Amino acid sequence: MSFTIPECLFCRIVGGEIPADIIYSDEHVIAFRDIEPVADHHILIIPKKHIASLSHLAEEDMTIAGHIMLAARKVAEKVGIAESGYRLVFNTGPDSLQSVFHIHGHLIGGQKMGWPPF
Ligand code: 5GP
Repeated sequence: MSFTIPECLFCRIVGGEIPADIIYSDEHVIAFRDIEPVADHHILIIPKKHIASLSHLAEEDMTIAGHIMLAARKVAEKVGIAESGYRLVFNTGPDSLQSVFHIHGHLIGGQKMGWPPF
């Protein structure tokens, strides 16, 4: 789980090199507040292992994928939005406007949202 790359912003947050407002951490994942929140609660959930995007997820990453989902549930409970509701969004590739190429789920909530998201 320790595969990181030095030039990756989120790997540097995992390594403690760049500070972040960390909400949750375990062996496989960390969750921290987005620096430019789009909602009252906007938390990024990332694996400690460097994986560029959902499109790069391999069969061997199945356990990590599960940990990300479980961490989302725990973080939602911790910040008090488990009952009111939230979204978990994985921007993937150019059309989605993914800007950081270390897979991350945006946990967004704390206010009423609209649909569709474009
Ligand atoms: P993406 O556009 O790739 O789906 O999402 C990347 C997210 O990372 C953006 O919402 C952006 O605000 C956030 N972000 C970029 N740089 C930093 C940073 O240095 N710290 C934190 N906490 N969030 C960041």
